[in-house]
Parts: sequence; structure tokens; C-alpha cells
Amino acid sequence: LNTNQTIFHKIINREVPADIIFEDSKVIAFRDISPISPEHILIVPKASISKLSDADIKDEALLGHMLLVAKDVAIKLGFADDGFRVVINSGEKAGQTVFQLHMHLLGGRDFSWPPG
Ligand code: 5GP
Repeated sequence: LNTNQTIFHKIINREVPADIIFEDSKVIAFRDISPISPEHILIVPKASISKLSDADIKDEALLGHMLLVAKDVAIKLGFADDGFRVVINSGEKAGQTVFQLHMHLLGGRDFSWPPG
């Protein structure tokens, strides 16, 4: 029994609907339910990893794959050339609210630095 079932696992298992943009054996990418930019997609590994600080060397290829999926999605949706941002919030103080590792892919507007 997996006691760490987040809303993202329910999306992976098709128990909760989502606007899915891309999926393969390792990851799923779907639109964020409350977007902070015109394009806001989440890239989520299917393996249960609560947060980036819990990842280890066995996850090395998966973490690289997430970045390549992010840029492929940006290209596919047509905002790669305009510029985009990828963000991972690890832990509550960083703003993480769903404790399944995920990468935010943000595009479609200008972004300031430093982030809030
Ligand atoms: P975090 O703050 O943990 O980095 O980001 C979690 C993100 O998940 C938030 O941007 C939030 O809007 C999104 N989210 C939470 N619940 C759902 C949901 O049920 N469906 C979708 N598509 N996104 C969700």
C-alpha cells in the first residue's frame, strides 16, 4: 500500500482529470490548475519522490529527462524561442505544496529576477 498518494499520483493513475500535454514511461506533463503565467505546465516523474532533496544518484537520468521533456514541451507549444523558466520548489519554505517532485515550466510572459 502506497501511503504517499498525492493528487499528482491520482492524475498519473487517471483517477483525477488533467489537461495532459505529454506522457511517457517515466514522466507525465499536464497544465497547472491555477496557472501563474499564460503557459504553466507541470512535469512530474511517475516514481514516488517527495521532493528534490529526497532524490539520489539513482534518479540522475530521470532528473535529466525531466529537463529535456520541459524544453520539448516548450518547443511543442511554441514558446521556447520567446524564453521560458523552469522551477522546482523543494520544501515548504520554498513554496512546495504538493509533496511529489515536480518541475514547473513557465512561459508566455516576461519573468523578473530575483523571483519572489
Ligand atoms: P508547488 O507549490 O508544490 O511547487 O506546486 C504545486 C502546483 O500544483 C501548484 O502550482 C498548483 O496550482 C498545482 N496543483 C495542485 N493541485 C492540482 C490539481 O489537482 N491539478 C493540477 N493540474 N494542478 C494542481
